[in-house]
Parts: sequence; structure tokens; C-alpha cells
Amino acid sequence: MIPAAFAYERAGSVDEALAMLGSDEDAKLLAGGHSLIPLLRLRFARPSTLIDIGRLSELRYVREDDDRIAIGALTRHADLVRDPVLAAHCPLISDAAAGIGDAQVRHRGTIGGSIAHGDPASDLATIVLTLDADLVVRGPNGERTIPAAEFFTGMFETALAREEILTEIRVSKVQEGTYLKIARRSEDWATVGVAAARVEGRVQVGLTSMGATPLRARSVEDALAGGATSSDAATHTADGTSPPSDVSGSGEYRAHLAQVLVRRALEQL
Ligand code: FAD
Repeated sequence: MIPAAFAYERAGSVDEALAMLGSDEDAKLLAGGHSLIPLLRLRFARPSTLIDIGRLSELRYVREDDDRIAIGALTRHADLVRDPVLAAHCPLISDAAAGIGDAQVRHRGTIGGSIAHGDPASDLATIVLTLDADLVVRGPNGERTIPAAEFFTGMFETALAREEILTEIRVSKVQEGTYLKIARRSEDWATVGVAAARVEGRVQVGLTSMGATPLRARSVEDALAGGATSSDAATHTADGTSPPSDVSGSGEYRAHLAQVLVRRALEQL
């Protein structure tokens, strides 16, 4: 389908984008466009104006920041795949980004767009939740930081206010981590994805496409902390989840698949 008519503006800076957002309550940010443009074509989204922030180089970086890593929200998936800082200090992010979509998606899609969109099937949203990332946002009243655990509030809903821009993602340096994903077709969205990482001595586990938001498998984490084996801990994978049934698989199938992937991921740590 053809999108409804909209105006197009390209922001030259974050401040300019914030001013544009503030002056038009029906405007929407455009980053890589790989989630928003399909919604426009289906007319599920009908913004008055698209504010293009995709070329703001001030938000495209990966930097070491003492014991943490700071990633600009407009860093593209392909940048994450080959970034040397991530390769040295958080290879889990590069590995997960390498499995997103196809080359075209990875060269346009951004980590900020993946997180801000609030899609429970987003691979990087699960990763930032698993790593307890801090999400830095800027709005008309300045900057604030939202813990990833408080960011994903519902299906395609987040704690971002309408006039705010996600600017940076901060994660701890984590050497041991893995992301396993099963998709029906190669280069597709996850039917189920599982992240596992050792963060400050504790194993943390995240789930993709197992509910309305990216989820933490807290019961698995607690079982491991209590001394359970990987296999025993994995039996708790579906606790508190609500896996959907759709063309990619039934909820029951997803619950089984997630348990298998959690066991495999834990065995790889
Ligand atoms: P956009 O589409 O530009 O924006 C998405 C939403 O986020 C919009 O509402 C926009 O206003 C908002 N937004 C964007 N940036 C910001 C910001 N900095 N601050 C505040 N709001 C912002 N993803 C996966 O995780 N795994 C996959 O396997 C996968 N496969 C895909 C396959 C195809 C064919 C396609 C088209 C997409 C796929 N994606 C997949 C999605 C892809 O990763 C998208 O790029 C991503 O979800 C959105 O990022 P974007 O930069 O394109 O955001």
C-alpha cells in the first residue's frame, strides 16, 4: 500500500530534532526506517511529519567509558557487527546484530530504532534487557536515564515520552555471553530468541518473542543462583511468559523451543 501523505524534515542535530518534535504533536522520528516505513505503508502509522534523524553522526558511535560501553542510538546494526570495542568487550552485541535480518536491514536499521520501537521480537531489545543496560534519553526537560528493566512497558510501548529521543545505550563490559535464535526462514525475525550472559558473576537470561515485551527469565536466573544445573534451571524458562501463537509457531511450541535454547545457551557459557 501507499502511505498517507506526510511532510518530511531532516534534523541537523538532536536539539533541532527535539524542537521539531515539540512543535508538532503528530510528528514521528525516522531512523533506519525498517520498522516505521512498513507501518506507514500499512497505514498503521499516519504521522503528519517524519523527522529524519538517520544521518545524525553525533549519535553514531561505540565508545569505551571506563568499565562500561556507550553506544550511540543511531549506530547501525552493521556497525555493531564489526566494531572493535564490542569485539573486545561485549561480543554478544556484535553476534546478535549479525543475525538481524539481511544485509540491507543491517545497513539501515539502528540499535536505537530497534529498542524504541518496543517490538517483543527485537533481538537487540532482549540483549539490552539481559545486560541491564541504561538507556539515555533527551527531551524538552533535559536528559534522563531509564534502566532497561523499566523501558519496555507493553507491546510496541515503551517508557519513552512522545517528545523524547533515545540517544545512548550504556552496557557493562561482558565477556561471556551468547544469543541463540531460531527463525522459520534464514535472516528472519526470531520465532524464539534466547540471550544468556554472565554479568558481575551472575548469569542473566533474556527471551525474545515470548510475550508482549522482551522478557527476563528470572526463575531460570534464580535457579542457577541456587545451584541448579543448566538443564534443571532451563525447565523454568516459560515461567511467567505468555508466548504468542501465530504463523511462526504455537505458544506451546515456543515454550518448548525456548527451554531447549536456554539449556543450550547456558551450556555455552
Ligand atoms: P525506524 O523504523 O526508523 O523507527 C522505528 C520506531 O522507533 C519509530 O516509531 C521511530 O519513531 C522510533 N525511533 C527510532 N529511533 C529512535 C530514537 N533514537 N529515539 C526515539 N524513537 C526512535 N529486527 C530484529 O531485531 N531482528 C530481525 O531478525 C529483523 N529482521 C528484519 C527483517 C526485515 C525484512 C525488516 C524490514 C526489518 C527487520 N528487523 C529485525 C527490524 C530492524 O532491525 C529495524 O531496523 C529496527 O527494528 C528498527 O530500527 P530503525 O532504525 O529501522 O527504526
